[in-house]
Amino acid sequence: MKDNLINEFDSLLKKSKNTLIIPHKNPDGDALGSSLALNFFLMKKGHNSLVISPNEYPSFLNWLPGQNKIINFSLNQKKVISLIDKADLILTLDYNDLSRTGEMESILTSADIPFVMVDHHKNPKSYADLTFSEPQISSTSEMVYNIISKLDHSKIDSNIATCLYTGMMTDTGSFRFPSTTSKTYLIASKLIDFGANHSKIHQNVYDNYTFNRIRLLGTCLSNLKKIKSLPVVYTFLSQEDLRINNFKKGDTEGFVNYGLSLKNISLSVIMIEDKLQNLIKMSFRSKGNFSVNKFAKIYFNGGGHHNAAGGTSLKSLKETEKKFMNAIQECKKDFEV
Ligand code: 5GP
Ligand code: MN
Repeated sequence: MKDNLINEFDSLLKKSKNTLIIPHKNPDGDALGSSLALNFFLMKKGHNSLVISPNEYPSFLNWLPGQNKIINFSLNQKKVISLIDKADLILTLDYNDLSRTGEMESILTSADIPFVMVDHHKNPKSYADLTFSEPQISSTSEMVYNIISKLDHSKIDSNIATCLYTGMMTDTGSFRFPSTTSKTYLIASKLIDFGANHSKIHQNVYDNYTFNRIRLLGTCLSNLKKIKSLPVVYTFLSQEDLRINNFKKGDTEGFVNYGLSLKNISLSVIMIEDKLQNLIKMSFRSKGNFSVNKFAKIYFNGGGHHNAAGGTSLKSLKETEKKFMNAIQECKKDFEV
């Protein structure tokens, strides 16, 4: 992280009072953790700062410090529009393309105020006046730690530490993905010293299944299929599967990872039917060389990281399965070692 960027950020902050922090739509632990942490920091620095989530966030994050003050755009559109009118700085966290805010995109695009991007995905768009973009860093939360510890280390407290630890833990698969570096561990260690209770955070995030959710995982695992002669597995959940198990937002989070726990599997995919939006949400996870970022971009109008990406299909579940099988056949050579 370059010092001149930090200095520019510092002077932007000094010129602003009303700051808004906006994670991406369907925020995950990193998007929400980094946003809430930066929000605590800015409030301690005297800003009127708020976090606005484009939509509802999953219940496994509804214990995070400060989450009760988050404004949900999809439920309070008028209020958010007036807040944006009064804001003098907008910080967008954990994405690099305003389309990731869903229905907020057009409002943000027409807002005539400075934007700051803090993100770790590849290929950032150029909407921000100040762009912190570090695809090699494991999480946006790790980036926020680096930024705020340079701006004012003394403001880091247990709330900030808890939010950042949560974001780092969730985006690194509990510190096991290759993106995890010795610096990630060093920061995690510092966050524990600042008051993050690592064991409690892990329990809050992962040991909170409802009975329905674990039944849904059961369906997801029994639907698992292996592609012949390739290290690829995929599964799907139909709207009916979701309905029977009383699906709640966030219930399918992490399901795609189970495929990767199989021996000699390097790509795992889940397709989830959403009849309300009339689409199939796809999630891709890989190990090693296979780039799911590229795969999602080419075939499913999506993207993400090298080993974790998402996308969508506008076809039916059956047709999506066919399209996926064809796509995999086209990429066959990418699995050769
Ligand atoms: P997930 O599978 O958990 O939804 O997403 C995995 C990763 O891919 C996340 O880093 C997320 O930011 C990214 N991602 C998910 N869906 C999309 C999408 O539709 N478009 C793009 N560009 N990235 C996505
Ligand atoms: Mn992230």
